Amino acid sequence: MAPVSVDPDGAALQALRAVGLRVTTPRRAVVAWLAEHPHSTADAVGSGVREQLDSVSTQAIYDVLAACTYAGLLRRIEPAGHPARYERRAGDNHHHLVCRGCGRTEDVDCVVGARPCLKPVDDHGFALDEAEVLFWGLCPTCLAAARAAGEVHHHEETVQ
Ligand SMILES: [Zn+2]
Ligand SMILES: [Zn+2]
Ligand SMILES: [Zn+2]
Repeated sequence: MAPVSVDPDGAALQALRAVGLRVTTPRRAVVAWLAEHPHSTADAVGSGVREQLDSVSTQAIYDVLAACTYAGLLRRIEPAGHPARYERRAGDNHHHLVCRGCGRTEDVDCVVGARPCLKPVDDHGFALDEAEVLFWGLCPTCLAAARAAGEVHHHEETVQ
């Protein structure tokens, strides 16, 4: 069975079993790694997992991410203009802040909790099940860099 090092506490194994997925070493490694590194791209997952399992191909990483996302074990977010990111925090309706500068991504709880947490003025008869909420802006690091470069106007600075 799997080397203990990729999933030392067995949490990934339990999570895979709980959603009825066959337990494989690459799946354990990906799920365990993402628990420690939320909002990672497939490339980052591949690099991280290959530090532990050097035999895992990029295609295998993509296959694991797709299977685990489909099973509801992982959540995939796709900020426009950025590669898709994956995280273990799936199944709740939390939202994200994304930095336009560096892509840094942070979780924010939904104030409503259940989806859809926003309702349109006119739903045109649709049965709505989700409002995709993504907050865009500049993280503190990028904001400081933009100010240093004189790219942020005075009236925006005074709001802070
Ligand atoms: Zn940033
Ligand atoms: Zn998140
Ligand atoms: Zn919400």
